[in-house]
Amino acid sequence: MYISDFETRTRTPRQRAWQIAATVCDPEIPVLTIEDLGILRDVQVAEGDRITVTITPTYSGCPAMDAIRDDVKAAFAKEGYADVTVDLVLAPAWTTDWMTEAGKAKLREYGIAPPTGKSDAARHAGPIRLQMAVKCPQCSSLHTKELTRFGSTSCKALYVCQDCKEPFDYFKVL
Ligand SMILES: [Zn+2]
Repeated sequence: MYISDFETRTRTPRQRAWQIAATVCDPEIPVLTIEDLGILRDVQVAEGDRITVTITPTYSGCPAMDAIRDDVKAAFAKEGYADVTVDLVLAPAWTTDWMTEAGKAKLREYGIAPPTGKSDAARHAGPIRLQMAVKCPQCSSLHTKELTRFGSTSCKALYVCQDCKEPFDYFKVL
């Protein structure tokens, strides 16, 4: 493997491998990396540069997972790693709570309202689910309305802003 700069030299093999895995983007929301989404759970480097990447799918049966698995392998292949295993771990289940703040900011810039509030998994108390207002990513108005529960993908709902009249996708709290 090629060692090109000081930063690369000072990183541990695991940090370096994590950074390679973290460049892979979600096929459905290409502005978000799998690190931004919080689905990149672990990267291990064993002897002989054998890489094991652990990923938790955003929801079971998400068709994007096959693409992500291929993209992870391709990203490592480009850096000279041939022996890459991608493990899927289903428990604990991914929730939108795992999305990073950087990821939420990128979603907003992309015109998708990031999930508001916490998932059911994070709320220990009570059966009452607090519905929080969804903020318009264009004008930040809280005066928004759900048009359809299922938008362009099942992760998203279609909303419309009642102030700027712009429709937008909302990444639902899962
Ligand atoms: Zn608006």
